[in-house]
Amino acid sequence: MSHILTLCYLIGSITFIIGLKMLSHPAKARKGNLVAAVGMAIAIFGTIFLYEEDGNKLGNYIWIFSGLIIGTVVGTLIAKKVKMTAMPQMVSLFNGMGGACAALISVIEFQHIAHNLSNDGGIIHQGILVSIFLGAIIGSISFAGSMIAWGKLNGNIKDFAYGGQQVTNVGLMLVILGIAAYLLFSLSPENAYWFYIIFGVSLLYGVLFVMPIGGADMPVVISLLNSFTGVAAACGGFLYDNKVMLTGGILVGAAGTLLTILMCNAMNRSLKNVLLGSFGGGTKSNAGNKEQGSYKEISLNDAATVLAYSSKVMIVPGYGLAVAQAQHTCHELEKLLEEKGVEVKYAIHPVAGRMPGHMNVLLAEADVSYDKLLEMEEANDEFKNTDVVLILGANDVVNPAAKNDPSSPIYGMPILEVEQAKNVIVNKRSMKPGYAGIENDLFFQPKTSMLFGDAKAALQKLVAEIKNV
Ligand code: NDP
Repeated sequence: MSHILTLCYLIGSITFIIGLKMLSHPAKARKGNLVAAVGMAIAIFGTIFLYEEDGNKLGNYIWIFSGLIIGTVVGTLIAKKVKMTAMPQMVSLFNGMGGACAALISVIEFQHIAHNLSNDGGIIHQGILVSIFLGAIIGSISFAGSMIAWGKLNGNIKDFAYGGQQVTNVGLMLVILGIAAYLLFSLSPENAYWFYIIFGVSLLYGVLFVMPIGGADMPVVISLLNSFTGVAAACGGFLYDNKVMLTGGILVGAAGTLLTILMCNAMNRSLKNVLLGSFGGGTKSNAGNKEQGSYKEISLNDAATVLAYSSKVMIVPGYGLAVAQAQHTCHELEKLLEEKGVEVKYAIHPVAGRMPGHMNVLLAEADVSYDKLLEMEEANDEFKNTDVVLILGANDVVNPAAKNDPSSPIYGMPILEVEQAKNVIVNKRSMKPGYAGIENDLFFQPKTSMLFGDAKAALQKLVAEIKNV
């Protein structure tokens, strides 16, 4: 039986690696997810039915299957109901659950050790204690931090920064590590309760660590917390000598860390700056706002004519396109323009929308061909040969203040340099700012024209107009 279980774990580990690799391309991402999920199911059911210790099976089937059924039903319902724009909250919530599981594993295993100690003074293995402490600390930080991130992204929790927060956080971490070191070398039935103090202070640390971070830094923090959960799960793998848990945890930990670094690079910020600065507070301030000149509007008819008579059009999708759910109409516009001999491409900014890869997922939903999607660097090279850039509900990712205005909170973030094109048409509903809460000088430039309205309605009318051109 144990050989079959080892085989199940091997299959699980291999499918995680293949699945993760497939996730790196939108065309294979869904299948990749499915492959890894099948591997996970094999590992879970293998453990439930094949695992034996001293000839005893796991048992507890009612508890195990009740948990599995409740988790599956709740998870499926949430995932099916969630709006695309609320995806980061859901990721944060699910990640928090993973962190809580890893921390609870540590609590249970610590209780076993404490119980054995008081019964027969059993031997303490320091290596096991280290895994337990790390799982409890990292898992609790990940759980508490993810819950705060969830509340913030839902709009229920406000950013909260106070003087001396870094000193407090460093102090709390020293307390956690100090108690863990003390228990590691002198754990006894009398002082075992200190473990629960580690657990409580780690939860507090998770809350205080995420509270001051906000704005566009939230996805970075969520990705970092994701990697924490992976590491905490890997500690569980060490604890149980379970290879599939170890592989899964390490993969999540490594992928989360890489994504964190990539996102920091996309915003031109260091991780230290994200964690210690309060970018979110700054982004919602008026920093970077200044008196602007006037802007010009374009009628649907004129926009349709300009687009239909161009040779090359670049579409810049943003958060507003996702809100309006206008991706299908956008694809229709693209096909119509191509029928008229216009070359159409999409310029994708890595942090457009509200989650990593948001625009890729959105456009994939509408069957837009992947070869039409240009990454930021490629798009920036092509703007100078573009007749019209059509911006659909994007704002911050095309804000030239990121390049020109050192006082702007988004200064230094690489942007799509759309001003290089011959004409820019911006579709949004009003002159209101985007996520960063700052004015956009692009809207006031001579080559820019504003096409006001909800993206879906505006695109539907544009399609109708272009058919008549
Ligand atoms: P922005 O949030 O900067 O701007 C979106 C614009 O869309 C708004 O100005 C809004 O203007 C317009 N809009 C809203 N609803 C509609 C609608 N129905 N129809 C047409 N327009 C609409 O979006 P960007 O994509 O340019 O930038 C993303 C921002 O979010 C960046 O600051 C990024 O750092 C941040 N962020 C990114 C995350 C990620 O992982 N991708 C996660 C969290 C934050 P109006 O109200 O006038 O219509």
